[in-house]
Amino acid sequence: MGTINIVCPECSTINAVEENTQSNVVECVQCKADINDPFVLEVNDNHCIKHINENEIATLVDFYSTTCGPCMAMYDDYEDAALAFGIKVRFLKINVDKHQLVAKEYGVTGLPTIIAFKAGKEINRESGQLSLVDLTMWADRLCL
Ligand SMILES: [Zn+2]
Repeated sequence: MGTINIVCPECSTINAVEENTQSNVVECVQCKADINDPFVLEVNDNHCIKHINENEIATLVDFYSTTCGPCMAMYDDYEDAALAFGIKVRFLKINVDKHQLVAKEYGVTGLPTIIAFKAGKEINRESGQLSLVDLTMWADRLCL
């Protein structure tokens, strides 16, 4: 069985994790944080680029602004959706009012936009507010 690269959400170290691990806790080799901890990670441009390019797990990036109504309406659902996935899908969010580099690179115009990446490649994107069910189903399909 091979390993899969996962960027630590705490210290950005790239961890080679055993594929299909059944462990509930996956410790980062560097900082010992649990990289299976299912939470939404707020990133800046640099962290976002590293997660996009180095994560071999599906990585979702929610491009949002605090002044965007639908973005804020989806806020809690995005957090709740993340809880079901841990290291199967990394949930990131980036505030485009503060960080525009990645949004510009991927041609994000409308908000919210969520782009799914795997190993540096865009594999899917959705624009507009998604429900918890839609978010969960979408993330589920990315695990296949
Ligand atoms: Zn770490």
